[in-house]
Formats: sequence, structure tokens, C-alpha cells
Amino acid sequence: MLEINTIFYSAFVVSDSKMAHVNKQMGRHEHAKINSLNLMENLAEVEYIMSDKTGTMTKNELTLVALCCDVDSYFLKGKCFKKDEKGDIVGNEASCRSYVEDKTDFLKCLKLCHDCSLLTLPMADGKTKDVLTGASLDEQCLLKSIQDEKVAEFIYKSSKKIKIRIGQETLDYDFINMNEFSSERKLMSVIVRDLQDGKIYVFAKGAENKIMERLSPESSDSELKDEINAQVLNFGSQGLRTLVFAMREMSQEEFASIDFSNSANPEAIAEACERDLRVIACTGVEDELQENVAECIQDFRDAGIKFWMLTGDLGHTAKEIAFNCGVMSRDDEVNSIFTLDAIDSIDLKQCIIDANQGIKQSKSEHKKTTVMVSGQSFLIVSKLDDSTQELFKKEVLLQADSVILYRSSPKQKADAVKLVKTEFKDKKLTLAIGDGFNDISMIQSAHVGIGVLGVESN
Ligand SMILES: [Mg+2]
Repeated sequence: MLEINTIFYSAFVVSDSKMAHVNKQMGRHEHAKINSLNLMENLAEVEYIMSDKTGTMTKNELTLVALCCDVDSYFLKGKCFKKDEKGDIVGNEASCRSYVEDKTDFLKCLKLCHDCSLLTLPMADGKTKDVLTGASLDEQCLLKSIQDEKVAEFIYKSSKKIKIRIGQETLDYDFINMNEFSSERKLMSVIVRDLQDGKIYVFAKGAENKIMERLSPESSDSELKDEINAQVLNFGSQGLRTLVFAMREMSQEEFASIDFSNSANPEAIAEACERDLRVIACTGVEDELQENVAECIQDFRDAGIKFWMLTGDLGHTAKEIAFNCGVMSRDDEVNSIFTLDAIDSIDLKQCIIDANQGIKQSKSEHKKTTVMVSGQSFLIVSKLDDSTQELFKKEVLLQADSVILYRSSPKQKADAVKLVKTEFKDKKLTLAIGDGFNDISMIQSAHVGIGVLGVESN
């Protein structure tokens, strides 16, 4: 009887139009697929849901809405914020275009430092159309946002040349090398020769901590760095995804000393190039939430299912999205939040002890509890003594109603799922859901794995 039911339930899922993905490009509905008939029974028993954020809880449809390129102003959601005579910060309506017009270094970095290219496609009416292609949606979004023939334009890129336009000027560059982005490195850089002045430049962009640790001493001490740090926090606290941009000139001697042809050791090339940088800007990109995501997560929480959000994003961005998605409540009378963001094992041990006491206290007051753990702290846990490790797993992570693992690598996402499975000796079922290539090992680690069809995946 149970088997017959299972087949019927499966058929409902497969034919459910609300669970189908609308492929806008191909103009068709792609229905859900079920790869295991045990799915229906397992779904009913799930006690832990571990979810990717970008593309799963959010739509992964991106818009550039925030920018900071200098010490005394920044652009955020249609307004330019500046200090007035009294020293108060006031926002006046402005366009992103008007804000960046004279920010030449940033515009160069934006147009040169990426892994996108332009494809010229023939159209039905005999004309052609340029289409931007590239693996990263963030990059495509940034490049498209300011693609204006009067401000800045990315015109052409081959394996040897790049052509861009900044203002009225068309600029040509020799493309020398690219140090690729990876989810571990969290930054990328390009090395180019400016054919206008013959100088060699490094342009880089990436996560704020990765760029900030590679700055020159002067840039590290600069006011601009402090301002950009402050705006990264500000943009992040609005739920925006942030990136920091930096550059430097490389001397001819230094350039000659780096062996760019040594493809066996790309890390050494990257390390030699990505140092002594000068920070120039930060950007904030908005990613809209999926429909009804907050109601859905609230239902899970009401049913006593523990919800874990696993993301590579900044703590601030993750926190804001978690509030908006109902993973935790803003009201501290209802929901206590404990953050484990330690730099060393002594610091972390104290954080764990405090969080354990806090969670016990909150439970006695019938409050919901959320633990936020940074990828860095998650890594340090393995260096702690056994009893603290046990305390962390059993009394902190597994006791919390929701957990947010931020700034985490794909491997840590999978490790989080394995941790729950191991602790409960497979007696409590886990469900992992994600849309990206980097979620595969997490999805495969869980009892129930769900791959979401989205912008990034298929
Ligand atoms: Mg994703």
C-alpha cells in the first residue's frame, strides 16, 4: 500500500506546475524530477534543513544599487550621500551614472578586471547584437550596469587585447594575465599593459577581507580604506552583496621578474601580483528574494524543523537576508542571536562557552535561538580540545533553532551536513537544497538532496 502511495505522491510532485522551473530563454516549463522513490517517506521525517542562500533563497537576479569610490560620498539606491556644511550626512537624488562619471580608476577596473566577453550574434532582421557572456552573474551585472558610451564601455576582448572606452577616450590594453577567481581565493585580478602610457597595471576585485589583506601600507592606513570598510558594512547590512576593487602599477623590473608562462604554479603568479594594492572602490549588488520564502521558512520553524543557512557571503549580508527570509527574527525579545566569529582558538573557546550559556538562558525564557558561525571559526573548531568541540556541536549548533554559516567554502557546507548526520548517527534526517555547482557535495551529503533549477544551474 505504502509503495502505491509513494508512486502517486511522486506523480503529484512531477506534475505540479508550481514546482516547475520556467526557462525564459527556451520558453518552456521544466518539471521537477525525482531520482529516488524513498523521497516521499524521507521528506516526512526531515528534521534539519540546510539551505544555500544565493539562487535558492534569493532569485539570483542582480542589480547594482550601491557604490563608494571616495572618502566623502557614496551612492545607495538612487541617492548620493554626502556631508553637508554642518557635518550631517544627507542623501540627494542621483543616478549611478552621475556618481561614477569622474571615477576613472574605478571605471577602468570595472571594465578591465573580469572574465566576461562580448559575443556578436546575428539577429533575424539582418542586424547583429552584442551579448555579454561569462561564468559569473555578479560580473555580468556589474559590467552591464555601467555600459554607457558616454561614461564607460567595455568594447572588445581577445586572449591578447582589451579595448574599453572611458568618457570620450578609447583605450587599448595588452592583456597579459588573469589570476582566476575561485570560491577559496575569493578574489581575481588581471595584469594589463596600458598602450597609452606603456605602463603595467594590476587590477583586482574580490571579497573585502581578501583585498584588504593585500593592500600597500599607505593604502592600508588611508582614509579611503576606512570609508570603504564602513560602506562594505553599511551595504552588507542592507542585504547587498559587496565587492571591493583595487589596483596598482607594476614596475617594469618587477614585471620582468615574474614568469607568467609558468602555468604549473598559478598561485605563485597570483601572489606576486596581488600585493601592495591600492583600494579604490566597493560595490553593492541587490539580489531579490524568492517568492514566499519567508512564509515557507516560518512554516518549517513552526513545525520544529531546524533551519540552517549556509552561504559564502559576508556576515552582515547573510544576517540581513536571514531577517528578511524569516530564518531569525529582528525582535530580540523573541529570538536571541549568538555570533561565533573568532580569530584564534582561545577567543573561539570563550565564544562557545558564552553561546552555550546564552542558549540555555534563552530556552528557559522560551525564546528562539540562532547561532551565526563564520567559516573561519568553523575551521578553528577542529583545533580545540575534545570537550569544547563536543560543547560546540551538541550544545551550541544542535540546540539552536537556526544556524547561519557565513563566509563558508563549498567543503564547509558539506561538512556542516555531515556533522548533523554523524552526531545523530543517521537517526535524524537532513535535507540539503542548493542551486549552484558548489552546492553539489552538500546536496550529496544529505539524506534528502534537492537541486534547484535556476539562473546558475541545470
Ligand atoms: Mg547558490
